[in-house]
Amino acid sequence: MSEIQKKSTARAPFNNPDHDIVLRSVDGVDFHNFKLILSLVSPIFKDMFTLPQHESEPAVPVIPVAEHSTILYPLLLLSYPASGADPTFGTIDDARAVVEAAQKYEMDAILYRIGDLIVAHFLLARPLDVYAISCLTGWKHHARTAASRSLEIEGLVRPNSGFAASGMGAINASDYQRLLTYHYECGIAAQAVGKALEWLPSTPEISGMQMWGCIGCGRVAIGRRAIQIASFGKWTVTPWFEEYLDASGKELAARPCERTLLESASYNRAIAKARECLFCRIVVVHHHLHTFRTFYIAEVRKAIEKVELAP
Ligand SMILES: [Zn+2]
Repeated sequence: MSEIQKKSTARAPFNNPDHDIVLRSVDGVDFHNFKLILSLVSPIFKDMFTLPQHESEPAVPVIPVAEHSTILYPLLLLSYPASGADPTFGTIDDARAVVEAAQKYEMDAILYRIGDLIVAHFLLARPLDVYAISCLTGWKHHARTAASRSLEIEGLVRPNSGFAASGMGAINASDYQRLLTYHYECGIAAQAVGKALEWLPSTPEISGMQMWGCIGCGRVAIGRRAIQIASFGKWTVTPWFEEYLDASGKELAARPCERTLLESASYNRAIAKARECLFCRIVVVHHHLHTFRTFYIAEVRKAIEKVELAP
């Protein structure tokens, strides 16, 4: 306890001996600062400094604040001129506390920089938390970026998907619903891409592909549907390719992102199945499927980009 209450001075640049104000964090760390700097960045501090000073007060006033030094340091660093490197946040909860402090002191000018830093630090590992903070703070573009990244979370729309367990406590029901709707609609849009392949380029390379050109397995057309291929018309495809389209479509519905297609087990399964056909086996099927997948990924990306996160 005595350790916590023992006062210390913050590290540079908040140890400047020429300071004219001290902010004392709740854990007893004194941050040397300048009234002018704090006044420029925060109307709350500006108002505070215009209050008349009591005779009994020390020459350099000490203002106790409610924030911990781990929160105060990045907050003040962002508002300090020529402070050098951007601050880092220990955890997403620290980042959220810095946002709340910036809002409390009405430091609007640095709030956006905090948002950029949060995205840079936490988007890959904690997209749901970044989404929650962005919604709370009104950062629409960051919310959209985080929602897009959250598409890589498989089955987000299912109950018990781990959404609530991710530590994102403060999200309201409508923001939560918006994210689930977005994920679901992206899944529908991505799955639809493989239902008709009219988006393939109408080139000789495409028309000559084994998936719809096999004179062996591709000719067994009974009970199988024909699919639109580029502008060539509806062609019957090989069973292994049809299976690939169905399987990858279901995977995309649960996890609508490019990585799903790159990591899909159904891709290797399709190649293995193709090798069971005497005719498909002698063609470089993996090259054809690889080329197809490149177009497939691009089209899925386009389909997802058209889906809007509700405002
Ligand atoms: Zn075949």
